[in-house]
Amino acid sequence: MDLYEYQAKELFAAHGVPVLPGAVVGEAEQARQAAEEIGGQVVVKAQVKTGGRGKAGGVKLAGDPAEAVEKARAILGLDIKGHVTRRVLVTEASEISEEYYFSFLLDRANRTFLAMASAEGGVEIEQLAVERPEALAMVPVSPLTGVDLDTARDIVAKANFPEAVRERAAEVVVKLWDTFVAEDATLVEVNPLVRDPQDAVIALDGKVTIDDNAAFRQPAHADLVDEQAEDPLEAKAKAKDLNYVKLDGQVGIIGNGAGLVMSTLDVVAYAGERHGGVRPANFLDIGGGASAEVMAAGLDVILGDPDVNSVFVNVFGGITACDAVANGIVEALKILGDEASKPLVVRLDGNNVEEGRRILAEAGHPLVTLVDTMDSAADKAAELAAAGA
Ligand code: GDP
Ligand code: MN
Repeated sequence: MDLYEYQAKELFAAHGVPVLPGAVVGEAEQARQAAEEIGGQVVVKAQVKTGGRGKAGGVKLAGDPAEAVEKARAILGLDIKGHVTRRVLVTEASEISEEYYFSFLLDRANRTFLAMASAEGGVEIEQLAVERPEALAMVPVSPLTGVDLDTARDIVAKANFPEAVRERAAEVVVKLWDTFVAEDATLVEVNPLVRDPQDAVIALDGKVTIDDNAAFRQPAHADLVDEQAEDPLEAKAKAKDLNYVKLDGQVGIIGNGAGLVMSTLDVVAYAGERHGGVRPANFLDIGGGASAEVMAAGLDVILGDPDVNSVFVNVFGGITACDAVANGIVEALKILGDEASKPLVVRLDGNNVEEGRRILAEAGHPLVTLVDTMDSAADKAAELAAAGA
């Protein structure tokens, strides 16, 4: 889960990272009071989960409360890379002497964590990495030893932070590491991390990605979920404990086991090329159990997607044998009744496959087509999706 800037800064503040005070408002007029409480010059910033707000006109300085209202009015409703601005952060303006870049992230390719830092912040990091790679320090961080003050000093020195602020920057880096670890983040990014005229080091922006797999030990993170911004189908799937990701195609996919579902996506995308370019509509792994309830919950989510024209149920019977899965499908269709309205292509293989196929054939549900191989089933599902479009 990606957080909004204001949420990221709340976590920063809780872990001692210096940030400036601010308030989030959803209506332009509310920016007046927020600006009055802060006093002096403020910055009005679009709260959207994408970068480059500054360039898009989503970050504006305001000299007094009346101007803050005016800027908030200009920013609210603004579409930034497809994200509509519903709230703005009104925050104390900082005088900026220098802008730096800093981040901690999970480096999957190298199976470790990584610190990235540069004394040349403010610009987008992708651009910096291409144009001035020598100005971007990349320092691997061992999860076993973490980041103490000495490690932090080493990182900011490698990044060429000026001597005058190195010690303060290192202290901030340690606290950013504390945030990263304590909050189970996979990304903590500050761009810009600024030096003000008094040589204070402050996080002026914040981007945090939380690892959802840690939700079980982070009960406080439930409050960070923005239900309005969540995809309704993904929210429904989450409520049913399903491992579901919405994609933008037309063939609904259900499978057991993440590996099988991933290959099913590939096979359907490939077959779809022969049928006008239809594509998988989702990823859904119903796991080992595949009981009638789980199958019904999965079908319910997928059939609720208006883009879906056909569904491909691809199951390999293992510990849960094919006959149990077949019964699950038959029962699920009974549970759903008229809700089930789109053609289903079912491919079963593995443990007890003959009995599974017999059960489905005997049930003879008008929406179900049984196909023996994965490739043919993918082709049939793509064909039906193209026909239903
Ligand atoms: P982003 O464009 O989405 O990354 O948004 P940022 O929060 O990074 O803001 C973009 C730019 O606006 C920063 O790089 C700063 O140059 C400028 N900015 C943001 N806050 C302030 C502030 O308090 N004072 C001044 N002078 N500039 C600011
Ligand atoms: Mn930024």
